[in-house]
Parts: sequence; structure tokens; C-alpha cells
Amino acid sequence: MKSPERIKKIETIEEMRKLRRSLQGQIGFVPTMGALHEGHRSLVERARAESDVVIASIFVNPTQFNVASDLDKYPRTLESDLLSLEDAGVDYVFLPRPEEMYADNYRFEVREKEQSQFLCGAHRAGHFEGVLTVVLKLFNLVKPDRAYFGEKDYQQLKLITDMASALFLDVEVVPCPTVRETDGLAMSSRNLRLSAQQRERAPLFYRALKSKGADPAGVKSELETAGFKVDYVEERWGRRFGAAFLGEVRLIDNVEI
Ligand code: AMP
Repeated sequence: MKSPERIKKIETIEEMRKLRRSLQGQIGFVPTMGALHEGHRSLVERARAESDVVIASIFVNPTQFNVASDLDKYPRTLESDLLSLEDAGVDYVFLPRPEEMYADNYRFEVREKEQSQFLCGAHRAGHFEGVLTVVLKLFNLVKPDRAYFGEKDYQQLKLITDMASALFLDVEVVPCPTVRETDGLAMSSRNLRLSAQQRERAPLFYRALKSKGADPAGVKSELETAGFKVDYVEERWGRRFGAAFLGEVRLIDNVEI
């Protein structure tokens, strides 16, 4: 496989700080956990269109995984990720090591006490603490003017937006619409782990969530009949949210209602 030539890899915190001191203009930032797809690319393209310098990060953040096997099995596709970031116009990719990101040995964390408690927060203990903590660390290192997040992870987007406001962070959090496969399935790095048979069944998740006639209980039972193990189907913020397993793979999605 061809190696990326133009994109610059930043692998230590010291290098990141040094780079940041040298940069001028509007900085757009796209944090990711890698295994990149068209959803990530849409964030990068938006950042490219609105920024002088685009920085992406790839960091599979251990503190947001509440199940160890999910962290172990998280897809890692670094070489193709670098090519796709370069192709989408990213200038720098930050690839920190967990030991450096958590040099405090996990002593400090960011905790939100209300809206992180329901939906995914009720099913993934510690997940949003992990997310908010790593995003704050990344913001402090990258110091972006704008940071781009997907509506696919709507609760995460909402919590990060509110954290930026509550902690007076000097960053604009930019929401980006969910990118879907042609059959409606929300793109996700975890889709790589679906078997052929599960992949065939997966689009039903989105179809059920957006069905107009049904209430959340009806959607849940439709999914269960189709073999999904449902964590929740709930309505909040004018949207309907769902999380459900197909085998070991946990899918999440949300639609406007
Ligand atoms: P992840 O690598 O899964 O942590 O995602 C990194 C960023 O990409 C987050 O802001 C996600 O919300 C966003 N993202 C993931 N999947 C999609 C998608 N299908 N459409 C739009 N944004 C997405």
C-alpha cells in the first residue's frame, strides 16, 4: 500500500505543543478513534472548507470503553486511515500514546451529572466521563478554533457542546449530520465487525427508529422480533434515540421526530 507523503504525523505531546505554537490562522480539529469511513470524511471536509489548518487525531481512548473486549476488538486500520486523511486534505494527524495522554494515571476526569446519566450513559458506566476527559485534554493540546463532531453520537455532541460552554473553552463545537450507507445504516467503525448476515439485518435499525406510526415501545419490540438485543429506544430533545446489539456489536443511531 502507498504510504502517505504530505500529511504530518505528530506522535508526542511535546511535538503537538511545539507545532501549535508555530501555527497561525483558523485551526479546525476532527478527533476520531480511527477505522475511518465516509462519516469521518464529511467532518474533515467541513473542517477543510472552514479552516486554514486542519488537524485530525486518531486515539482509541481506553477510558471510554466500559467493556475490555470492546476496546480489544475495536478496529485499527492506521495505514489506510492516514491515506484517507491525507486525501481529504488534513494537514496534521495527532497520534498520541495512552501512556502520555493519561500520564496522571487517571487521577483527573470530567464528570457531567445530568445528561450523561440517561441513554448511553445509563448502559455504559463511565463512558461519558472518558469521552469528556479525553476531549478536554485534546482541546487543551490542539487549541482549535472549531472542532467537528457527528450527530450520529448526538448525546456525545450535546455533552461536549455543553462542556465547552460550562468550562468557558475557547472553541466552537460544530455539529455535522449523520452519514449513512445507501440502505440507511449509519456509518460506524463498528460495522466492520458485523457478519454478512448481521450486516443484512442492520438497516432495519434505522428504518424502525424513523417509522412514524410507532412509539418507542413499538420500535423496541419490532427490533427484538428481528433479533436485536435492545439497550434502549427513547425520545429526547425532539429526537428518537436507539442502541441495540446485533450479536456482540452495539449499534447506536438517532433520528429527528
Ligand atoms: P469515532 O471515531 O467513532 O469516535 O467518531 C469520530 C467522530 O466522527 C465523532 O464526532 C462521530 O460522531 C463522528 N462520526 C462517526 N460516525 C459518523 C457518521 N456516520 N456520520 C457523521 N459523523 C460520524
